[in-house]
Amino acid sequence: QAIVRQQRNCAYLDQQRLFSRARLALEAKLRQAIDSNELTLYVQPQFSLTIPSRLVGAEVLVRWITRDGQFISPAHFIPIAEQTGLIVRLDHWVCEHSVAMLAKYQSLLPEDFRLSVNFSAVSISRGLCEKLILDSIKRWRVPPRNLCIEITESAIMNSLVATRQSIARLRQQGFDIAIDDFGTGYSSMAYLKNLAVTHLKIDQIFTAGLENGMSDQQIVKAIAMVGKSFGHHILIEGVEQAKQATLATQLGCQFVQGFHFAKPMAWIDFVRQYLGEGHL
Ligand code: C2E
Ligand code: CA
Ligand code: CA
Ligand code: CA
Repeated sequence: QAIVRQQRNCAYLDQQRLFSRARLALEAKLRQAIDSNELTLYVQPQFSLTIPSRLVGAEVLVRWITRDGQFISPAHFIPIAEQTGLIVRLDHWVCEHSVAMLAKYQSLLPEDFRLSVNFSAVSISRGLCEKLILDSIKRWRVPPRNLCIEITESAIMNSLVATRQSIARLRQQGFDIAIDDFGTGYSSMAYLKNLAVTHLKIDQIFTAGLENGMSDQQIVKAIAMVGKSFGHHILIEGVEQAKQATLATQLGCQFVQGFHFAKPMAWIDFVRQYLGEGHL
């Protein structure tokens, strides 16, 4: 029995080793990818639910297409970047290129357009996010009110004090700030009163359940009600069906993002589709 257990242990360790070797290889590849522009930025449009089809903004989502044409999902490489510290360089790259794009297309964008950029927990809690974004907007001469900084709820909860102060300073500078994946990070709504955020993004797990019964509807309704009472804007994510959009509107959501309206797309397609003549 002991031998069987030992063998199992060995197999487990082998697997672990293999796993961390694969991770190391991917980390090295990612490091190179950041330097050699294998990353590109996609954008997913965001719309008003109360004024149908009105474009209010877009979220920047990073894409990694390797030189041999392989597509690696951010859901896969962002966690690895977070574990290895590479995320700081990735956040830097994303921030600089997002602001550059905003500058490039500013004359075509609606005046109140907001470009949302994701920042990782590490960058936020160490105050790097402030440095990066202030630096970029100065270089590209973009006003902060055209930018929204997305921070996940779990990142905020992980280091509440540092993050709260950082959020307050960013808000003072004039940036909008969204709590991302709201409803999944086990925060108490009581924390909301101490956070200078402007937007709550309701996580897509609640959207997926909207049609199946009352409980997700109750959650969305409660988040929208409390959020709005604090003066926050409410955006619902992951809307894939017209029915979900109708329900979300009835439950008090004001903005929407999801495949039913538009998928993430290359900047050039976004400009053609939404900012071309006829949309101005
Ligand atoms: P997120 O910030 O919650 O981004 C939303 C994710 O939902 C995106 O996945 C988007 O493509 C997907 N999505 C949008 N609409 C729908 C829909 O209707 N249905 C479904 N099923 N999915 C939808 P993506 O692009 O794969 O990104 C995954 C995660 O990776 C993001 O989640 C974010 O946490 C992270 N990420 C992506 N880009 C960046 C970045 O530039 N910087 C950082 N730090 N993290 C990023
Ligand atoms: Ca996000
Ligand atoms: Ca989200
Ligand atoms: Ca997410």
